[in-house]
Amino acid sequence: MMNIPLIDLKAQYLTIQSDIDSAIQRVITRSEFIGGDELQEFEAEFAAYCGAKACVGVGNGTDALYLALRGLGIGPGDEVITVAHTFIATAEAISLTGAKPVFVDIREDTMLMNPDALEAAITPQTRAVIVVHLYGQPCEMARILEIAQHHNLKVVEDAAQAHGAYWQGQRVGTLGDVACFSFYPGKNLGAYGDGGAVVSQDEDLIRRVRRLANHGRLEKYTHEIEGVNSRLDGLQASILRVKLRHLDQWNAARQRHAAHYLEALAGSGVNLPTVHPEAESVWHLFVVRVAEREHLQARLKEQGIATGIHYPLPLHQQPAYKYLGIPDGTLPVTEKVASEIVSLPIFAELTEEQVETVSKAVTKLTNVLQSL
Ligand SMILES: *Cc1c(COP(=O)(O)O)cnc(C)c1O
Repeated sequence: MMNIPLIDLKAQYLTIQSDIDSAIQRVITRSEFIGGDELQEFEAEFAAYCGAKACVGVGNGTDALYLALRGLGIGPGDEVITVAHTFIATAEAISLTGAKPVFVDIREDTMLMNPDALEAAITPQTRAVIVVHLYGQPCEMARILEIAQHHNLKVVEDAAQAHGAYWQGQRVGTLGDVACFSFYPGKNLGAYGDGGAVVSQDEDLIRRVRRLANHGRLEKYTHEIEGVNSRLDGLQASILRVKLRHLDQWNAARQRHAAHYLEALAGSGVNLPTVHPEAESVWHLFVVRVAEREHLQARLKEQGIATGIHYPLPLHQQPAYKYLGIPDGTLPVTEKVASEIVSLPIFAELTEEQVETVSKAVTKLTNVLQSL
């Protein structure tokens, strides 16, 4: 039986092994474990990749969001609007600042923030919106930016799943006031441990984030404010520099696999993902929707095909957010989508045969289900 995992980090490593090994060796030889040349180079290269003026490496994507919000001056008494259909980090970053997370519903077709819902949720306390470019697809930025501007809101991009994606020909990372990336190993650009970055056209904001992330200092022994310790380390930066050179090619491979899936699954019983015509997705995940999800997942597993659910329980229904007192049924599209989604394997090293195998299995299983 052929095993098809959701992601295969070992397969990716084998394609870049000698470059990775020598990058790691270089950092160790120079003992530049914190700060150092590799970090500086990576920050410059990643900013350039995004088309942004400045970038600061931080400890992880969650901290990137938290530090960006702090850098924007968001704190107690403020409300920040985001979606409940995301990884919990998006909302944790808001509550960590002392602000209140406010969840709005998504669009059923793209599964991304519904701009009408955003507009309806704005109150005099609203200071910012975190748009989540989920699954690799940029949000509907034209409408969202217009609403934000009209209500004087800061726009933070949670680009943890969308390194390299485009909205109207412009890379994510420069679409809002500030963008936050995760380099968690499984992301489109992943480190060999935790890592993250904050990117912006506003160099002053990046300076404030850099200071917050490094104990409130820009110089060694002067702490201008109280900060935290959240830095991207030299080893991770050196690994990310090697991988950044391959990112476009890996994203292109994901796009080929997604196109293949869309064609091969057209006659199946699953609902296929929709990408906004002005967006170019980098397909961090390939998420279909089906009513009999558990059955499909179990049968695929028997055939050696891994699947996932991103994410099964919306944030407003998580035990951690019970205190917000948001009743079930408040976000009907989010709740419906969460009950139907299934992520199929997608990563650059996947072969065409594997995409074909998964597609055939899904088609067979869902056609059977439909005819029951
Ligand atoms: C991965 C992820 C994060 C958090 O990143 P970490 O590096 O794991 O802290 C935030 N938001 C989204 C949408 C993510 O997928």
